[in-house]
Amino acid sequence: MNMHLGGTLGLVAHVATAATAGAQQSAWPQHALDRPPPPVVAPAAVQPLVAPPADAVVLFDGGLLAAWQAADSAGGPARWRISSGAIEVVPGAGGIRTRRSFGDVQLHVEWMSPLPAQGAGQDRGNSGVFLMGQYEVQILDSWHSTTYPDGQAGAIYGQLPPLVNASRQPGRWQSFDIIFRHPEFDGERLTVPARMTVFHNGLLVHEDAVLQGPTTHQRRAPYVAHPRRLPISLQDHGHKVRFRNIWVRELAPLVH
Ligand code: MG
Repeated sequence: MNMHLGGTLGLVAHVATAATAGAQQSAWPQHALDRPPPPVVAPAAVQPLVAPPADAVVLFDGGLLAAWQAADSAGGPARWRISSGAIEVVPGAGGIRTRRSFGDVQLHVEWMSPLPAQGAGQDRGNSGVFLMGQYEVQILDSWHSTTYPDGQAGAIYGQLPPLVNASRQPGRWQSFDIIFRHPEFDGERLTVPARMTVFHNGLLVHEDAVLQGPTTHQRRAPYVAHPRRLPISLQDHGHKVRFRNIWVRELAPLVH
């Protein structure tokens, strides 16, 4: 804790019950630019292909976009393009979401920042993986590029920077392995916050992190009760980020 501890942490304090004591949490204002950036740690140079295990639901294997639809309310066909065995964001087409809904999962997704790199900060290879359509692990070109730490690659957007900056350079495949536990509600009341453990290119970047609510820009949004299963979505932030080898394992509930 430090001098930045303020009223915005009321929700954190509220949910930091015995069940969450000791978990990774944030005491900084959202998007703080004076927050020390995570150390840079070079991952292995090349992303190995991590093939889906037997119990995985394959969401993209280089072929069709059949597992996906448009993320807007109409939910029409996904309008991103497939090229050389990868999905590429079509800027302006909107995000995409899985046709199936998921709750507790282990998710593997590989992504690549555009080459040549363009833009700076948040305007450089921005996309994101949204668990339940609302809890974002940030995709950004953070290789030799800075932004506010809770918005760099691997951040739980607007809440927690990654423990390290494990970014590969643009044009190289990168990976996220995300273990996500959905929040629990009793009616409209939050009883158990969402939690995430995340590996970026094989390096631990979040360890059982407690989410303060949906991930949002320039505000902290409170939890709003939702079903135990919702689609996973990928963000169109106007940049031609590519994706491949996306699969998910559904996890049995933890016994509380
Ligand atoms: Mg994003």
